[in-house]
Amino acid sequence: MECSRQHIPHSIISLLNGFKASKTLFTASKLKVFDVLNSSNSLTLEEVAGQINASVLGTERLLEAAVSLGLLEWVKQQNTSVYRNTEQASRFLVSDSPESLNGYILHCNDMVWPLFSHLENAVREGTSQHERAFGKKNEEVFQDAFYSKDEVKIRFMDAMHSIARVTGKDVATAFELSPYKTACDIGGCTGAMAYEFTKAHPGLSVIVFDLPQVIEMRRHFQPKETDDRVSFVAGDFFKDDLPKADLYILARILHDWSDEKLHVLLSKLSKMCTPGCGLLVSEIFLDEERKRPSRALLQALSMTEGKQRSPTEYSDVLEKHGFTPKHIKHTDNLLDAMLFVKEDPNDKRT
Ligand code: SAM
Repeated sequence: MECSRQHIPHSIISLLNGFKASKTLFTASKLKVFDVLNSSNSLTLEEVAGQINASVLGTERLLEAAVSLGLLEWVKQQNTSVYRNTEQASRFLVSDSPESLNGYILHCNDMVWPLFSHLENAVREGTSQHERAFGKKNEEVFQDAFYSKDEVKIRFMDAMHSIARVTGKDVATAFELSPYKTACDIGGCTGAMAYEFTKAHPGLSVIVFDLPQVIEMRRHFQPKETDDRVSFVAGDFFKDDLPKADLYILARILHDWSDEKLHVLLSKLSKMCTPGCGLLVSEIFLDEERKRPSRALLQALSMTEGKQRSPTEYSDVLEKHGFTPKHIKHTDNLLDAMLFVKEDPNDKRT
C-alpha cells in the first residue's frame, strides 16, 4: 500500500535536519574549504583534503553534504571530478570577499553554537548559559564574554563587521538625511556602518563611539580607502559623556538591553539632543504580533538580557524620551530602520 506523501511533515523534517546543515556550513568555513577553492578555482577531493589538512574520507563527506546544500558544485573535468565554489559561496563565504559573511559564521560556530547546546538550561533558568558553555561568569555581556580575550574580541568584531558591510548600504540609504551634518554611531564597532553613511551622504561626518577595547582594535578593520569624515571616540555609553551630534545612529544596540538599561541610554541621548535632532534605530523589527521574522526570535534564545521588539515597542520606549517616530523602512536586507526626531518639549499638543 502506498503511504500518502502528503502526510510527510516536510517542514518538521527540515527543522530536524537544520542543525546538521548549519554545522556543515560552519565546519566548511572553519576549515577554509571556500578559501582554498577560491584560490585554485577547482580542486579534486584529494587536493582539498590536502589543503585543509583533513582526512580524505571526512573531507568527502563534508564536500558531498556541502554540494547537497548548494554551497559547492561537483563537476566532471576531463577524466576527473572536481569541486568548485558556487557563485553564492564565492560572493558570501570566501573570507576576503567584500561581502563575506565568514566572520559572522565563525562567531555562530564558536560562540552561539555552544550557547544553543545548553538551550534547555537557558529555558529552565531564564539565564545566559555563558558559564556552562565557556566556564566563565558573564556579569556584563560585552566586557566579560565578548571582550575578555583579544582573540575572542577580534572574532566578535569580525562578526559585527561582516554583517555591517552586507547591510550597511541599505541602512545608510534608508532615509533622506541631508539636514544632518554630524552623526554619532553609538556602539559603532569597527566603523563599517559609519563608512557606508559617509559614502551615501557626502555632507555627513560620523563619529564612531564604542568601548575603549574595541576602538583600540579598529585598525584591523579599516577599509583600504580611509575617509577623514569618519572618526573614533572611546567610551562607555552608560557612563561617559557622548559626543555631540545632530543625528545619533543606534544599529543593533537596543535589542541587547533590558527596558531599564534602554532608559539610562535614551535619557542621556535625550539630554544631548536639541529639537530636530535625529535618532536612527536599525534592528530586525518584529511584526506587531511578535511572530516573525523567526530569525529574530531564534536569536533571542541565546541573548543575555535584551529582547527583540516591534516598531511599536521601540516607539513606546523612545517616545518616553521625547523622540517621535517619523519614518520606517523595511529594507529586505538583514536589518530594518526607523528614523525618530527629537520634539521640542514646549511644543506640546493638546
Ligand atoms: N553597531 C554595530 C553594528 O551594527 O555593526 C555593532 C553592534 S554590536 C551588536 C554592539 C556594539 O555595542 C559593540 O560594538 C559593542 O562593543 C558596543 N557596546 C556594548 N556596550 C557598550 C557600552 N557600554 N559603551 C559603548 N559601546 C558598547
